[in-house]
Order: sequence, then structure tokens, then C-alpha cells
Amino acid sequence: MRDILPDDTGRWRRLNQVFADVVGAAGYGQIITPLIEDVGVFTRIGEATDVVTKELYAFEDRGGRHVSLRPELTASVCRAFAQHRPAALPWKVWYTGPNFRQEKAQRGRYRQFDQVGVEVLGVDDAHLDVEVIALASEFYAQLGLTQVTLVVNSLGEPENRAAYVSALEAYFADAELTDQSRATLARNPLRVLDSKRPEDAAAIAGAPQIAEFYSDEAAAHFDTVQAGLARLGIDFVVEPKLVRGLDYYRRTIFEFQGGTLDSAQNALGGGGRYDGLVEALGGPPTPGIGFALGVDRTLLACDDEGVFGADDRPLDVFVVDVVGGAEALAITAEIRAAGLSADRGFDGRSMKAQMKLANRSGAKYAIIVGEQEMADRTVIIKPMGPTDQFTTPRDEAAQLLVKMQTEASRTESDYP
Ligand code: AMP
Repeated sequence: MRDILPDDTGRWRRLNQVFADVVGAAGYGQIITPLIEDVGVFTRIGEATDVVTKELYAFEDRGGRHVSLRPELTASVCRAFAQHRPAALPWKVWYTGPNFRQEKAQRGRYRQFDQVGVEVLGVDDAHLDVEVIALASEFYAQLGLTQVTLVVNSLGEPENRAAYVSALEAYFADAELTDQSRATLARNPLRVLDSKRPEDAAAIAGAPQIAEFYSDEAAAHFDTVQAGLARLGIDFVVEPKLVRGLDYYRRTIFEFQGGTLDSAQNALGGGGRYDGLVEALGGPPTPGIGFALGVDRTLLACDDEGVFGADDRPLDVFVVDVVGGAEALAITAEIRAAGLSADRGFDGRSMKAQMKLANRSGAKYAIIVGEQEMADRTVIIKPMGPTDQFTTPRDEAAQLLVKMQTEASRTESDYP
């Protein structure tokens, strides 16, 4: 688990804002669910997933309740849907926040990590799959990321998937696999296709393909999704070996892979269509689709691509008061009230020390108050560039700075 410090927090905020704007424009409303749920909410995600079997931060609280920190949000959103039974469908929600998984931490893999995501419940339309994928795509584009590959697949209907799983079991039973993949085969045969171990590559390359098992309906759904993505000009790659953890996934699944990250951590985000989760959590049978995008990893990808940098919002004004500090108290308050950002020196430091702070703060202007200015009820305004300083009536300083700032941003040049 990590601390996120200024100035990094600034771009976390901006990232959330970009996401909120993209999905807000498509009619999604924000949902905030608890960080802790009954552990049963998460075990429904799938008994055969690592997230549930190995990584849950589950514990018994003082009331003897079995609870867990959330490892993701899809299950929580489905639980909320089952509980509140919204009448208007589709129910389109988005979320942002931290999740917890006991993983082996490394670059791009943390025990507390943030996701932004959406879930849409109550509609089976393939065009919704396209909308959802397009939103994630648009989000990455707005961050400025260009090296992101969209990979899509369809797992077909549950019966198609079941038939495929049986075929995989039969095929892999006689294939050359590592011990780890043998163990995966016993738990979750689809997941064997995920193995990145070179010793498994040949066996995986020869494995049966899911498309051979699609029903006509499943094939048509997937065709519509692909045609829709093409219509919107969204590039994608069909990857028949893409599988995702959740037991409830059916039909469309997708992943966004970053071009700059290690392959084990290159999934920036992913999602898919699922059935049965709402039902398992006590609601009516309800189709769902959603995605979750990893914020931590997305920002690493931004670093690697040199886009969406850390915040650089220099201060507008730094107040230097060498007559005790009470003037700085009042002046910073006035400047902030006038809509500019302002900071000041503390502890009665010398003029030189405070000017150093002013420089370091990145402020565009310093206001200087000395003995003479106090006596005259004036202040010195010093642009922190090559321009000369000047003296102005103290009570007009805040408004004058606002005016100078507006003009400077209008002409993109320094005042005066
Ligand atoms: P998942 O819920 O496993 O499909 O993950 C969706 C996205 O969340 C992934 O593509 C990652 O970007 C991110 N993610 C998942 N687990 C972690 C983790 N332990 N640390 C950082 N990001 C993660």
C-alpha cells in the first residue's frame, strides 16, 4: 500500500474528473458503495478466482460478522442493485475508489489500488457493449494515451462456454503443461489460456478455440459488437484466448493493454458482460456489463508515454511580510477571497529568506510589506520575472492583482 503525495494527488483528481465527464456525458450516475461488505458478496464473484481464494482481506469484525474489504466493485454494484431495485432500466452507474487484494506487490501491482469503472444493469443489447467499450476508449484518448490496445473476445452463451471448458479439459489432459498450469486446469480450465509461461505456449497454441462453440445468437451478438466498434472507428484486436476471471462472464469480454508496461502488469483495465451475479446476490435475473480501469497502472502508462503529467499549478501570489506577519495574514485572506491562490512566509523570517520561498513557490507575483509600506498603507507588487516592481495602495492590491492576472492570461504575456 502506498501514499499518494502532492503533486501526484492533483492528477488523480484530474483523472477522476476526466472520467466523470466522459461517463457523465453518456448518462451514467455515480454510485458510492461501502469499502467493506459481507464476505459473501465477494465470494459470489467466483470460487475459482485468485481474487476470492487467495487475495481477499477478509476478517471477522467485533460483532462476529464475516466481512471483507472490497477487491473490486462489480459485486458491490450488483449487491446494491439487488437491494435497491431501481425501476428504470438500464441502470447506468460509474464509480471510483480503492480496492484491496493481498497480492505480491510490484510495479503496477499493489495491495491497495484504485479503479474507475462503470456497470450497466438490465439491458442485453450488443450496442450497449459497444457504448461501454467506447467510453473506456474515449477516457484513455482524453488522457492522451496512444499506446493502448483494445482486445476483445466473446465467451458465448453459458452453454457454449461450458462445452468449450469441457473441450479444453479433454485437450489439456494430454497436453504438455507446467505444474502450475495443471493446478489451474483443475480449478479453472479457461485460465490455463492466460498462462504466460513459455513452456505452456505450444499446448495453448494448439488448444480448441471458443468460436467453434458459439451458438448462432452468440455469434450474432459478437458480430454486432465488432461492427459497432468499427462504425465508431475504434481499433480492436479479436483475441480468442482472452478469458477473464469472473465465473459469470458471458458473451463480450475485453481488455485494454498498455504498450509500455511489463506483460504481467500490462492490463490497464478490462470488463465484460455478465449474467447471474445480481441473481446470486438476491435480485431478479438481470444482465449486466461493465469495466474497471486501474488508476495506478493507467498513470504509470501516462508516465511512460509522457502524457497527463503531475500537476503544475503554481501559486498566483506569495506574500512577504517583514513587519510581524499580521499584514500577511490579512492580505493572503483578501487575495484568496478575490479568487487568486496565495501563500505566505511564516515565523518572522528575513526578507531574503521569504523571497527565496516566494521564488520556490512558483508564484507569479510577490507582495512585499515593509516598514515604509506599513506606514504609507501601501504594498510593493513584484512580478517574479524580469519586470520591475511597483508600489500600490494596500487596499487596492488584491483587485489589481486579479486584473493583472486576467490580462496576463488573456494575452499570455506578463504584465505590465
Ligand atoms: P480486474 O478487476 O482484476 O479485472 O482488474 C481491472 C484493472 O484493475 C486491471 O486491469 C488493473 O489495471 C487494475 N488492477 C487490478 N489489480 C491490481 C493491483 N493489485 N494493483 C494495481 N492495479 C490493479
